[in-house]
Amino acid sequence: MGPATGARRVAAEEPGRDNYGGGVTTPTVFSVPLRSRFRGLTVREGVLLQGAAGWGEFSPFWDYDDAESLAWWRAAREAAETGWPDPVRMSIPVNVTVPAVGPELAARIVAESGCGTAKVKVAEAGQEFSEDLARVTAVRRALGKRGRIRVDANGAWDVPTAIERIRRLDRAARGLEYVEQPCRTVADLAAVRRAVDVLIAADESIRRSEDPLEVVRAEAADIAILKVQPLGGVRAALELAERLALPVVVSSALESSIGLAAGLALAAALPELPYACGLATAALLERDVVAEPLLPVDGEIAVRRPEPEPRLLAAAGADEGVIASWRERIAAVSSLEASR
Ligand SMILES: [Mg+2]
Repeated sequence: MGPATGARRVAAEEPGRDNYGGGVTTPTVFSVPLRSRFRGLTVREGVLLQGAAGWGEFSPFWDYDDAESLAWWRAAREAAETGWPDPVRMSIPVNVTVPAVGPELAARIVAESGCGTAKVKVAEAGQEFSEDLARVTAVRRALGKRGRIRVDANGAWDVPTAIERIRRLDRAARGLEYVEQPCRTVADLAAVRRAVDVLIAADESIRRSEDPLEVVRAEAADIAILKVQPLGGVRAALELAERLALPVVVSSALESSIGLAAGLALAAALPELPYACGLATAALLERDVVAEPLLPVDGEIAVRRPEPEPRLLAAAGADEGVIASWRERIAAVSSLEASR
């Protein structure tokens, strides 16, 4: 086999390549570098599938096991085989995402985005709290008085740390719109929510939980962050939103524009959308697989569904080892799905 210069079709050389069901074909592995380290990653990888309804993306992070990845697989198949419910709006307000970078770069990312809302990563492993404060201060300066700032701690703090840091970040930001997942557990979120005035959004507590409604019963959150892939598709996320009865912020899982289109479809189909969504993450990728990535203009992304561009898909091709790993992963989730 020659050098890995292009995207490979995972199942092309396998007999019975239609064994994913529903007419899904052409699974293609992509691998693209990130502009900055994000969630500990420097490269984003996944698989794109084509079916009768269009293209879907399957890109669970590697710390998700097969059982957890099954929802991501269902989301990809919904996109490829069934498509999505009709939109009730055609333009989605979005936040710019600011990774755990230094203050100068943070300010530049915000200024170049054109977005009026910024989501700032805080509590990054190996960083000092003073770096969070400096980043948030720089973002406020870049956004101006009217912009909105939300922070995401990815569950890193214990309750006392969260209470103290949220108060200090709230002052540095001159008002936080909300803080996302300050602590890991639902009980801790509820304790923090009782102690601070800043609104609390639940992310991991919903998408990685056996019981996503626990945050509602425990009065642990004001806002629900919903992501299409970990929740098993646009329809599953819409149903969950209805049961949660909380305002929803649709966010990406750092997908290519193929996966982001599913997030846009969810944001477009929700009855209410009071907050900017976290779907402007195509800008975090060095390259995308579509000719016109789903990027915001004046802080909003137009609802549409782009297709991969063969030339870009080839440029995003993964090496043989990566392709083999994804092939194993698809086999594992497919057989898990068949067994349920
Ligand atoms: Mg989050």
